[in-house]
Amino acid sequence: MFPASFGYLPAHSVEEAVRLLTEHGDDAKLLAGGHSLIPAMKLRLASPRYLVDLGTVPGLRGVRVDGDALAIGALTVHADVASSDLARKHLPGLADAASVIGDVQVRNRGTIGGSVAHADPAADFPVILTALNASFVLQSPSGKRTVAADDFFIDFYTTALAPNEILTEIRVPLPPSNAGTAYAKLGHPASGYVVVSAGVLINRQPSGSCVSARIAIGGLGSGPIRATASEMELQGKQLTPEVIAAAASKAAEQTDPDDDSYASAAYKRHMATIYALRAIEAAVRRSAG
Ligand SMILES: Cc1cc2nc3c(=O)[nH]c(=O)nc-3n(C[C@H](O)[C@H](O)[C@H](O)COP(=O)(O)OP(=O)(O)OC[C@H]3O[C@@H](n4cnc5c(N)ncnc54)[C@H](O)[C@@H]3O)c2cc1C
Repeated sequence: MFPASFGYLPAHSVEEAVRLLTEHGDDAKLLAGGHSLIPAMKLRLASPRYLVDLGTVPGLRGVRVDGDALAIGALTVHADVASSDLARKHLPGLADAASVIGDVQVRNRGTIGGSVAHADPAADFPVILTALNASFVLQSPSGKRTVAADDFFIDFYTTALAPNEILTEIRVPLPPSNAGTAYAKLGHPASGYVVVSAGVLINRQPSGSCVSARIAIGGLGSGPIRATASEMELQGKQLTPEVIAAAASKAAEQTDPDDDSYASAAYKRHMATIYALRAIEAAVRRSAG
């Protein structure tokens, strides 16, 4: 299938991209890696009159440490996050999530900003970034603002982004030394998209007890869902196999998924407990150094 014809507008700065979006309103869409937008255009689910290309904007790609956060440019492709030494060192769960997205082609074209902005309920980054308490830097004609992941993902394919706002940077707090991060995913065998996934951040004391935990579950709703019952089960306790199993068993408690053509709701809820267990165990292992 071919998309409807459109005008191509390469932007050379974030300011220019914001101006073009503002000027063309609903007629324009941003283009990043094109791996969600172009398929949607080919299926005529989207037919923008103009594509504003972010790929021509310098300075939006790369991973660096900035103060107490890992700062990732919105145009950074999944493969660069997966192979980033900084991500692997400080936030291996984030690198793990990037490394299981789609296939090699998708990981070399798709961008973290595009994935976050698109907010596909079966995407990987929203889940791990919610677990890691990331925040998103958004730029519009009125300036910059930062939105926490907990407030950013609103519904299916719906985020806190205003129509003329651009996501420029993803900021992930660097965890303290006794912390561990992990991501575990049951992918759809055909597409690789999430059937169920779990992202985990565990902070523990040197003595071994859990100071705090953040756990996000993917695939069971319109976006990432915090498994707060699991988090509470871990908090303040020694991380024994029994405590971890009890926490994982509550991973689907705040969810109400639908049956779909691939899996029943009951299967997805059960798998959420299995993948939460795997991710919590991996994060706990990493938190021990
Ligand atoms: C075969 C296949 C398999 C895939 N498998 C997976 C998978 O397993 N897991 C997964 O998570 N994803 C998967 N994807 C999706 C892939 O990760 C996409 O790359 C990603 O969802 C979108 O990123 P993009 O850079 O391609 O964005 P685009 O397609 O260019 O844009 C997507 C949307 O976001 C908007 N947008 C893009 N960048 C910005 C920005 N900086 N600020 C504001 N709005 C912006 C665009 O206007 C558009 O509406 C798959 C895709 C394909 C084709």
